Amino acid sequence: MKPISLTFVLFSTLLISSACFAQIPILNTYDTPQPKVVAPGLTSTENGVAAPSDAVILFDGKDLSEWNSKNGEPQWAVHDGIFTVTKGTGDIYTKKEFFDFQLHIEFMHPSDITGDGQMRGNSGVFLHGLYEIQVLETYNNENKTYVNGQAGAIYRQHPPLVNPLKKPGQWNSYDIIFTAPTFNADKTYRTNPRVTILLNGILIQNNAVIYGCTSDEKIYEQLKGGIRLQDHGCVVSYRNIWVREL
Ligand code: MG
Repeated sequence: MKPISLTFVLFSTLLISSACFAQIPILNTYDTPQPKVVAPGLTSTENGVAAPSDAVILFDGKDLSEWNSKNGEPQWAVHDGIFTVTKGTGDIYTKKEFFDFQLHIEFMHPSDITGDGQMRGNSGVFLHGLYEIQVLETYNNENKTYVNGQAGAIYRQHPPLVNPLKKPGQWNSYDIIFTAPTFNADKTYRTNPRVTILLNGILIQNNAVIYGCTSDEKIYEQLKGGIRLQDHGCVVSYRNIWVREL
């Protein structure tokens, strides 16, 4: 067999490299739209992340005018710049609906909390009204429950990667980045909904695939939806809620 010459190898490598480079589209950065300028909110460990300039404010500490319930105006109690679940009055829903979004929301369990398992500080943040990010008092993993039902779980689908929940009486924050699903003609998912979540600034769900509605495991052909907060018969407070549609 004839030995392959070094020149041939070098020439071939050069040709292959050129072909590879040629296939990569290089954007002319001057022709692309510039990113929108957004003023970041003030950050404080005590007060969470304040809304940036382009956010839709869903609760600013004053009233629940951005929210509804099944029976009309929400009966949850607004007090001291926060609001608290009034047990037995039902879930509340945002009036506005969103496609893909970034959501910031803060929640706290009372320091005199009682109950255990799923009845200890249970509430939930439902994305598009369908996909529940669990709210539960599971500080330090002391409240035993199923792992994909603890705080930070995509309910009954994915447990959180870690548990950075704070003690009852302290505020927690969720920063949630949600990608809406798309659908095939037969109403199955073409692309599933996906979610990334930070709890108290710590990554707990990393672009996780959502398999369907967390309540009944069905797929609903729904392109956009609001934020729903759950009345699960437990006292949980919320504050500083804002969303940026993406
Ligand atoms: Mg719940």
